Amino acid sequence: MTELKGLAGASGCVDAVAVVLSAQKLDLERRPVADGEAEVAVLEAARGRYRQSLAALRAEAGEESETGKIFFAYGEILDDPVFFAGVAKLIREELVCASFAVEQKRAETEALFAGMDDAYLKERANDINNVCNELMAELQGIVKGDPFARAEGERLVVFAEDLTPADTVRLDKRRLAGMVTEKGGVTSHTVILAKALGIPAVVGLRGALGQVATGDGVLVDGADGRVVLRPDDATRAEFVHRVRRDEELKALHRACRCEPATTRDGLAIRVNVNAGDKESVEDFAASCAGCDGVGLFRTEFLYMDHDDYPDEEAQYAVYAKMAEQLEGRELIIRTLDIGGDKQLGYMDMPQEMNPFLGYRAIRLCLDRTEMFKTQLRAILRAGAKGDVKVMFPMIVTLEELLRAKELLAEAAAELAAKGVEHNPNIPVGVMIETPAAALLSDQLAKHVSFFSIGSNDLIQYTTATDRMNEKVSYLYQPCNISVLRFIKMVCENAKREGVQVGICGEVASEVELIPLWAALGVDELSVAPALVGQTKYTLGRFSAAEARRQLEGLLDTGLIDEVKTTLARLSATE
Ligand code: PEP
Ligand code: MG
Repeated sequence: MTELKGLAGASGCVDAVAVVLSAQKLDLERRPVADGEAEVAVLEAARGRYRQSLAALRAEAGEESETGKIFFAYGEILDDPVFFAGVAKLIREELVCASFAVEQKRAETEALFAGMDDAYLKERANDINNVCNELMAELQGIVKGDPFARAEGERLVVFAEDLTPADTVRLDKRRLAGMVTEKGGVTSHTVILAKALGIPAVVGLRGALGQVATGDGVLVDGADGRVVLRPDDATRAEFVHRVRRDEELKALHRACRCEPATTRDGLAIRVNVNAGDKESVEDFAASCAGCDGVGLFRTEFLYMDHDDYPDEEAQYAVYAKMAEQLEGRELIIRTLDIGGDKQLGYMDMPQEMNPFLGYRAIRLCLDRTEMFKTQLRAILRAGAKGDVKVMFPMIVTLEELLRAKELLAEAAAELAAKGVEHNPNIPVGVMIETPAAALLSDQLAKHVSFFSIGSNDLIQYTTATDRMNEKVSYLYQPCNISVLRFIKMVCENAKREGVQVGICGEVASEVELIPLWAALGVDELSVAPALVGQTKYTLGRFSAAEARRQLEGLLDTGLIDEVKTTLARLSATE
């Protein structure tokens, strides 16, 4: 038996069988060929087969889905005439095998991209690498297809160095019970997929592949990041109990999903969802089932899937449709939060030393006012179709908020001048996701109707810890005392001005922290669509008055572990 500990990706417990997806070993040798023309024909035949399999994968994933679009992009790379003319030339002139020629060109392209610091271009370089590797696998007859085809067992946990979208789409979801990867942080593609499927994931588990073999029994507890290989009988017996408890809990969560959420002593807290990734928007009705509204609609995806800025009509169509589908429930639309880790090719963004501290979100919008007002007009118009609210991200000064509100008023005046239907009194809110905004929340509160605490960034900026960097993930702690003190301060300042306060970062759905949010007076929790039932269930398990009493003075301690222990004890006694 071997016990391993990685990062907690997605929660859930399973007792299953391991399937190892080893990185394919490609032959990169320079092999001479006698007939260059015949070798080019071999290359073209492999390209044809790979093109077909990409089309099939795209159809399976859904043409408009996020993964489907990745396969489309792969297809475009595969059809790049310049790149493949270069490969064919190399084969003909140097009489080398097709695999070697593809690898040569791949390496040249990688070197070209290597000096660039742009996240978007790096992603493209990664796509080119993936396409070339898959094409070489095709040339070398390395079998792809369903990795579970030869595996025994109905519940399988996949182990991989990393899982690309192409890897995950090939996995038979009916048998997939969990995922363990050596690479990746808690916001990786693996974790997002696992949460959507409702299965556990453990990520960042270095060295896992050296210890596991296909067919090994495996226990995975996603919430703890715990993986037990080849468990002994006693461990398995103890774990069976957890699995059963996990399944019972899931059933209880499902039952709560469409019920109103109150604490045991009747305090109502709205449970909203975060939307804005492709999946949640495509299946919007399912994502919103049972929730009180959308607490954070990330609008970036509207800008990311295009070659140019989306115009007012295109944005309005999306916002208005969502507002109508929500049938009176609130829809908080966050204005464009681009920059940082999210870059747009067509935006002509500057190269920056510290993109997370640079030209992003409201800073960029207040600079590119026509682009910003286009979005504001679309939001104002959607305001006539339902309970739409507008929210500004990354505010650090009162001047920024006041300027954003001025531009909102200008946008409303433009619509009014043209007689276009809109809501001139749309409620305005700000995200509290920087220490500056938290400290200024007493003043900000005088100018808005709601706050939404963006803890993902608030943790990052308070603790000076990159939220994407696995190496410092031990510092990226939701229970960091300074972060919790900021949240407490924001809640107090909000209450004083009668401003509603919500949380839309990942901490909103942290089970052990939910009593603390209730005790602090948070009015709304906005969570991943899959976690609505769990959040409502958790709220119903404790009394807010009792939580307030027990948590009094909790943040006076300087020690994160003390806070964690108290919160854990509290949820254990519920
Ligand atoms: C946050 O920072 O908590 C947040 C919700 O915004 P995003 O994750 O989109 O930066
Ligand atoms: Mg943020």
